[in-house]
Amino acid sequence: MHENYINGEWVGAGEVNRNLNPSDTRDVVGEYARGDDAQARQAIDAASDALETWATWTSEARADALDRIGDRILADKERLGELLAREEGKALAESIGEVTRAGRVFKFFAGEAIRFGGEFLPSVRPGVSVEVSREPVGVVGIITPWNFPIAIPAWKIAPALAYGNSVVFKPADLVPGCAWALASIVDEVGGLPKGVFNLVMGPGSKVGNALVTSPKVDAITFTGSSDTGRRIAAECAVRGAKFQLEMGGKNPLVVLDDADLELAVSTAINGAFFSTGQRCTSSSRLIVEKGIHDRFVERMREATQALTVGNALHPDTQIGPVASQAQLDQDLSYIEAAKRAGCRLEAGGERLSLETPGYYLTPALFSQTRNDMPINREEVFGPVATVIEADDYEHALALANDTVYGLSSGICTQSLARATHFKRHSSAGMVMVNLPTAGVDYHVPFGGRKGSSHGPREQGSYAKEFFTNVKTSYTLAQGV
Ligand code: NAD
Repeated sequence: MHENYINGEWVGAGEVNRNLNPSDTRDVVGEYARGDDAQARQAIDAASDALETWATWTSEARADALDRIGDRILADKERLGELLAREEGKALAESIGEVTRAGRVFKFFAGEAIRFGGEFLPSVRPGVSVEVSREPVGVVGIITPWNFPIAIPAWKIAPALAYGNSVVFKPADLVPGCAWALASIVDEVGGLPKGVFNLVMGPGSKVGNALVTSPKVDAITFTGSSDTGRRIAAECAVRGAKFQLEMGGKNPLVVLDDADLELAVSTAINGAFFSTGQRCTSSSRLIVEKGIHDRFVERMREATQALTVGNALHPDTQIGPVASQAQLDQDLSYIEAAKRAGCRLEAGGERLSLETPGYYLTPALFSQTRNDMPINREEVFGPVATVIEADDYEHALALANDTVYGLSSGICTQSLARATHFKRHSSAGMVMVNLPTAGVDYHVPFGGRKGSSHGPREQGSYAKEFFTNVKTSYTLAQGV
């Protein structure tokens, strides 16, 4: 059994989580410990006790540790990519890409450990100077979703460690494999003091809840669904813990009449269906100006039908299976509801039986949908995209912004004026011009607005806003 990692030791748990391959449900990826709240508390105590020793490490020593972890992830990217594809169902090439990103994130934050600094200012009072410095927050609880099982943990764990915090990491139940593999790399090459990094696999209701409610956990960084995020926010607010939430999306891609049709179609196909549509940044609403609408729908239908759905490990698969039975049921119920509501199914939306038993679903494209329908209001989180027709640019912009979410948005146009206006007036945290709404760099801030996000941005040097506390010190120089 793959065990939890607490205070530098591998520790078993009473319950076992059998990790199944969604491309072939006969294939057991492995058996993983399913910890509980008592184990979470042990890890929290270890992380709390480790802070003192961790604080004696120089920034250079922290940087070297992160660099070694990043190097090992990159060296192992084929093996880890295969594991990711096998446990989550992401197509192999994308899985290896995600692992590569995780390695790069560690190496980026290795540099940040040394680079980040403070400010020194003259005071407004005579003889006084002011320092603004940053200190670790303390013990950070890291709670992650299943859809990016190595990249999201990496972009939370790496900055937490870079800025001197200790960590208790709780991955999603569905994907313990990548979390465990990452923990084993930290154990093997990190050389961190015992207790600085801990992995506790187990249910959100026990392990996650123990992190959120423990007075010894100073900050919670969470990525997952909006419902869970809201619950965590309420708990953290009551006990005064710092928290950061990245949640759902209903991201619009606007296609204007002047767009390059082929570029718009490939952008929409990538944004809507790659990673089986299971991305918080996926382009689930395609808002299309009426002059290009019919041609766009026709080309999208052809391109959607041409996608190869298959076993995530097969090299020619473009769209892997849905990650779980529960997610598949959710996708199918939204597809049925959209049909009942009168939306036109242009392509896909069907269960596929392939040679290995898995949760295969052909990507579904709907036209003739309205923005007020549930399929356009609620996050499906599957390979399901809708087309909404817009009268003109202003109408398209209004539709794009008419959502409770605000993570990512995009526009396909050849007009610099429209692109500039859209960048300024989109109510999303990230805006793409002639690019898919999903797919971001790791050295710049990531995050949304409205119901999609709460708290400081993740990634890039902006990550320090969450993972450090600011201190302002005043000095009156005496003597000389
Ligand atoms: P989820 O909310 O079900 O679970 C996320 C994590 O929270 C898991 O580790 C889970 O075990 C834990 N959890 C559940 N209940 C908890 C509780 N009461 N206390 C503490 N922890 C608890 O989400 P999911 O299904 O794993 O992920 C899919 C969701 O994640 C989608 O909504 C997607 O949009 C979102 N997501 C957002 C981003 C982003 O950056 N905005 C990125 C990826 C995924």
